[in-house]
Amino acid sequence: MYDINKVREDFPILSRTVYDRPLVYLDNAATTQKPRVVVESIMEEYYNVNANVHRGVHYLSQQATDLHEASRETVRRFINARSTSEIIFTRGTTESINLVASSYCDAFMNEGDEVIVSVMEHHSNIVPWQLQATRKGIVIRVIPMDDRGELMLDEYEKLFNEKTRMVSVAHVSNVLGTVNPVKEMARIAHAHGVPFMLDGAQSAPHFAVDMQQLDCDFFALSGHKLYGPTGVGVLYGKEEWLDRLPPYQGGGEMIDNVSFEKTTFERLPFKFEAGTPDYVATNGLAKAIDYVTALGMDNIEKHERELTKYVMEKMKNIDGMAVFGTSEHKDAVISFLVGNIHHLDMGTLLDRLGIAVRTGHHCAQPLMHRLGIQGTVRASFALYNTKDEIDALIAGIERVSRMF
Ligand code: PMP
Repeated sequence: MYDINKVREDFPILSRTVYDRPLVYLDNAATTQKPRVVVESIMEEYYNVNANVHRGVHYLSQQATDLHEASRETVRRFINARSTSEIIFTRGTTESINLVASSYCDAFMNEGDEVIVSVMEHHSNIVPWQLQATRKGIVIRVIPMDDRGELMLDEYEKLFNEKTRMVSVAHVSNVLGTVNPVKEMARIAHAHGVPFMLDGAQSAPHFAVDMQQLDCDFFALSGHKLYGPTGVGVLYGKEEWLDRLPPYQGGGEMIDNVSFEKTTFERLPFKFEAGTPDYVATNGLAKAIDYVTALGMDNIEKHERELTKYVMEKMKNIDGMAVFGTSEHKDAVISFLVGNIHHLDMGTLLDRLGIAVRTGHHCAQPLMHRLGIQGTVRASFALYNTKDEIDALIAGIERVSRMF
């Protein structure tokens, strides 16, 4: 295991105060804080290396290109993809899913064809498909869940028919914390000859993800939720699929040859990377990945699971506590409401105690409808959170509860 106090020193922001109280940062599902090595790599690259990648013959451009391409290899290793051709840099999970929805629909979906998503999706795995529904008349089918927040696999199987062309689901729910049985779900999709995409925004930061073991066809993640910079993310795609998809955007970097009569495209992964990439951020992401890899993803998972177990136990003792998402397969996200206290009131008052949580629908309004609520308070954990911070959260909730 790692030394949590030493680890916390790597994240300068964690020692600041808000309202003269120590910051207790429990909004990690929205974004994580950055270790010094990430911030320093950004500064260092802008101060000493900065030049556009892939184009220059000069020294700095080659150095920046080497860093950028080494980052791709770091990502490949981290998620155990077969080749760097399968690693596309994007702006984040949202762009990764939009890319697949757009290119895949262009190539493989016609009016009436169906995509399967689940009731617990983030809007970024609903709206891109709806945009395609408007453009191409595709149909969205929804996997329901039970009251513990687990997807109903028997209902999932029933959704397949001869029109099904794609399954796209969250690996981990950003509201319930449910870790979905995605290996089994991929197997079922493949048995029907349908590709399987995972929204890994809330899984990749919390436990080791292995593309070859999961056998998903596409996987999306966001750098900023993985202790890396904002504005960079990854789309993994099996080469056999990426090869068959048309480009998402056009421009520089993604072409082989351009004339007004005919343009040919670059090989993978560049075919999907039009324009200047955020090469400083990709390098920052690689530094974040090196950082979590050195701590050990298994250690991070163990630490966060312990925190989750601890908070779930403590919450049982709070009067009127309702926790949404009680699956055994639960990751470091706790959504809750206490009695009739509005989520926004709870969040605002916790904030005054220095405790940062998120309130509202968490970009999952259909899930809120399913739960019959407007929103929740959400506490989400990262590798640097402590049991003391959870004690502060519990004491804070009790204090706020007494005020109502
Ligand atoms: N999917 C899930 C499950 C998420 O939690 C989030 C971020 N809240 C996203 C997608 C979107 O990620 P981003 O805004 O970084 O593109």
